[in-house]
Amino acid sequence: MKGRFAPSPTGYIHLGNVWIVLLSYLSTRQQQGTYVVRIEDIDLQRSKRDYGEALLDDLEWLGFDWDEGPRVGGPQLSYWQSERLHLYDEVLQSLGDRALTYPCFCNRTRVQSIASAPHRGEIVHHYDGHCRHLTISEVEKRMEEKVPSYRVKVETGTFYFDDIYQGEQCYTLQGGIDDFVLRRGDGMYAYNLAVVIDDIQMGITEVVRGQDLLDTTPQQLYLYNLLGAVSPRYSHAPLLIDSDGHRLSKRQQSITIRELRALQWEPNRILGELAMLAGLIQPSSNPRISLDELLERSINTELLKQKSIIVDGVF
Ligand code: GLU
Ligand code: ZN
Repeated sequence: MKGRFAPSPTGYIHLGNVWIVLLSYLSTRQQQGTYVVRIEDIDLQRSKRDYGEALLDDLEWLGFDWDEGPRVGGPQLSYWQSERLHLYDEVLQSLGDRALTYPCFCNRTRVQSIASAPHRGEIVHHYDGHCRHLTISEVEKRMEEKVPSYRVKVETGTFYFDDIYQGEQCYTLQGGIDDFVLRRGDGMYAYNLAVVIDDIQMGITEVVRGQDLLDTTPQQLYLYNLLGAVSPRYSHAPLLIDSDGHRLSKRQQSITIRELRALQWEPNRILGELAMLAGLIQPSSNPRISLDELLERSINTELLKQKSIIVDGVF
């Protein structure tokens, strides 16, 4: 099997990231799998190369290693999404050739007004299919005024998947309403497209990531189907929150690994606190454990069925 960690370098790595890398790393290593690190710097405005490098430094400082990715190489030409844009373009073109996409000229205000409308079921809808039925001449005319975004033409269908942590999931995607963006008007490729192409090309068979991404899974499964590829197994881990319900990742300052390091925290202490949350070690006031020792222990998946875990007062 093959697992991966795919962080976005928009700031210094924080405990929320380490939580995910820990769970995915242990799962892969315990199955004697291959572990991949991929830097998801596809959002060229928000991502910074320096944050990517700092993130890799912090992973190394914590003791993580990987078999494929930045600094170690592998069969892919690059493990930075910003250097893989031509691959996304090729797939987008081929979907276009199969008439599975269409240009959307709607402006942000229009799309946002749809997104804020009450939504049905669990999925937040972002669109209403407005540009799906434009005629060729209408498209040509609008092309002269504006670079469109590209959406996938969704055929209504229901997706089931069994999330290893969160259990059975069922989502319905509806044609038109759920036509999602593959490339934005500003030329940026969408997360859903890039993540699926990369996971396919890198041969990933198990995805461990935050619960906040659970709702993106049906779109990604949709793309796996279109591309004729087998989807990975998913494990959506609970988010770490404080007692006010805020995600730890939003309070960057107090919980970056850089900060903890400056406060003389050692890797084994950081790993110990997180390991306790996953039931890997008994509760204690001063938990410490190394990655090697953690590899000998099994994760309590009961604890990971939650949507979030409160970690107030620890860090
Ligand atoms: N790059 C995404 C993030 O940092 C994770 C993508 C994924 O694991 O599918 O939130
Ligand atoms: Zn549109």
